[in-house]
Amino acid sequence: MVRAEDIKVVTVVGAGTMGHGIAELAAMAGYKVYLADVNMEILNNAISKIRWSLGKLAEKGALRESVEAVVGRITPIVSVKEGAFSEELARALSESQLMIEAVPENLKLKQDLFAFASLRMPQESILATNTSSLPITEIASAAADPSRVVGMHFFNPPVLMPLVEVIRGAKTSDEVVRAVVEIARKMGKTPVIVNKDVPGFIVNRVLGRLMNVACFIVDKGMASVEEVDATAFYVLRFPMGVFELADYSGIDVFYLVTKAMAERGVEVLPCRVFEEKFLAKKYGVKSGEGFYKYPEPGKFVKPSHQKELAKVDPALLMSLAVNEAAYLLRTGVASKEDIETSVKLGLGWPKGVFEYADELGIDRVVEALSRLKAETGMEVFSPDPLLQDMVRQGKLGRKSGEGFYSYAAVEEVVKETIIIRKEKPIAWVILNRPERLNAISPKMLEELSKALDELEEDKEIRAVVIKGAGRAFSAGADVTSFAAVTPMDVMKFSRKFQELTLKMQFYTKPIIAAVHGYALGGGLEIAMSADIRIASEDAMLGQPEINLGFIPGAGGTQRLARIVGPARAKELIMTGDFVPATEALKMGLVNRVVKAGSLDDEARSLALKLAEKPPLALMMAKYSVDLGYEGTIWEGLALEAGLFSLLFSTEDVIEGVSAFLEKRRPKFRGR
Ligand code: NAD
Repeated sequence: MVRAEDIKVVTVVGAGTMGHGIAELAAMAGYKVYLADVNMEILNNAISKIRWSLGKLAEKGALRESVEAVVGRITPIVSVKEGAFSEELARALSESQLMIEAVPENLKLKQDLFAFASLRMPQESILATNTSSLPITEIASAAADPSRVVGMHFFNPPVLMPLVEVIRGAKTSDEVVRAVVEIARKMGKTPVIVNKDVPGFIVNRVLGRLMNVACFIVDKGMASVEEVDATAFYVLRFPMGVFELADYSGIDVFYLVTKAMAERGVEVLPCRVFEEKFLAKKYGVKSGEGFYKYPEPGKFVKPSHQKELAKVDPALLMSLAVNEAAYLLRTGVASKEDIETSVKLGLGWPKGVFEYADELGIDRVVEALSRLKAETGMEVFSPDPLLQDMVRQGKLGRKSGEGFYSYAAVEEVVKETIIIRKEKPIAWVILNRPERLNAISPKMLEELSKALDELEEDKEIRAVVIKGAGRAFSAGADVTSFAAVTPMDVMKFSRKFQELTLKMQFYTKPIIAAVHGYALGGGLEIAMSADIRIASEDAMLGQPEINLGFIPGAGGTQRLARIVGPARAKELIMTGDFVPATEALKMGLVNRVVKAGSLDDEARSLALKLAEKPPLALMMAKYSVDLGYEGTIWEGLALEAGLFSLLFSTEDVIEGVSAFLEKRRPKFRGR
């Protein structure tokens, strides 16, 4: 039986773009690592890249040890000698419980390696491949024991991209999948499980479909590249336009991945615009030109999308991606949560693909697909049976109250910088500038403050959850709004911000902060003003203001000290270091850590739980703890006794005590 905790030594084969990053992650996770490539020159280059990257992490405060301590765990080895795998590689493998292969995308090479490794590694070991497009099952077929072979698909760059797809080959054992999920977590990643070895797994399949349709729209002259991208950026609020992303990642990469998927039987739309760019070697950022121009090849400059061009039907643009996700869900390739996590973390979408589907309307997506099917006769546009069933049953998404999710009486108001979603008896306040990692601007402060006032007056709302849209909770105050300001302006901003944090702290209803990705600076200050903080495992928290020459200005120096104690607070504030969720949990900065895909569900169920409690007693509990904490114990106890006795004037106490005696659930009314 292979267990994650038995893995001590890891051999990473291939030290290129992916391999060196994977080796770095493994070493950071504490494993002893052998890093193998064909010659010392490549290996030395890989080690210096690792050293550079660790240095960057250390600068950001995201490294808990010295760079040299981590590098010291990596031993470079030459993997081939005279055209065959070397003795050195054999020795490293014989010591390793895990191999992660990241050699070029060549089936024969990978099979040879797996055959070789499977005979040298110990019985209880795992052989993982980072392939993007080759079948895990075919790679596994060359190994002595295919049940130990698994896909472990990292994203580029592995150190920064939070997602890992764990792919089950036809014969992969459950225990191997479980162990790799654990190992990915230990490397600080969020794993999702791909239950069937389908070409493209989750992320590339969904993305491939989006690219397909985007291409089709442009090929048919239905819209321009700029219009598609403006729609993706402004309407769907993706971090990049579709063609911008192609340029960024390399048009050649997409062209070849799509071709590989087509060769494996996936029906892919022909795409003239991609083919033309590919043949003209206009690969995007790397060659200086793709769909956009980049004056300095290799250096990405974000194209400026124009809001007025955002006029493509978003249901059309998303149609194939939603259809693909429905297929993956219906056929059991992955769970709904894992598909949502994949597109959020792998593609940076602010919402899951099923959330988009519900918002756009399942009927509109099916209509768009059916129209394309009728026009082209292509099978790829056939709406998935799951979507067709949903339409038949009237599950059209948000508008009908049910789709992939259920929306019992959901009301949503979209403001310029936030979204207020009432899901009575709870409300969500969503920081919504995902393209800026929800940087907090004066406008956002104003909207947050107003939203809290309104929700406070709404008798049907009993608890509020604050969260961020997209990849982060909030990366902090919008420093661009600090340009050319006077100290007085900053003072006012700080005061306004402090006013908001006080409003949160002394709000008459409980507030939960649901934190994922970055919660930095002002973002953390907002989270700290909530009553309870739930973090997803990918969260990173910190007060990095010191690196910009200033200090937290919205209560950070005060609340952090009260939450984690002055010594830890000073360390965090003075170093500017970030702490990952698990460490934040240890120091009491967050109340609990949950799986990335389940943050909303956990926050919702906690909010619903609080919503059932007696509202006045909740308010008194907050006040007694928070106000009492500021004074001496005598003052605190006097306050507690006062509030305690005051509650005995409420109907809720009568209800609570009666329900207890009658052994039924109490129904508190807040009176
Ligand atoms: P790469 O070309 O940058 O690196 C591959 C490395 O393998 C090279 O350094 C090469 O010298 C080395 N190599 C070749 N033969 C070898 C051998 N016999 N033994 C040891 N090393 C050998 O490629 P990459 O982009 O890192 O991709 C590696 C794998 O990861 C591929 O399967 C690819 O599909 C997958 N992948 C790539 C990305 C990406 O964005 N680049 C993302 C996810 C997965």
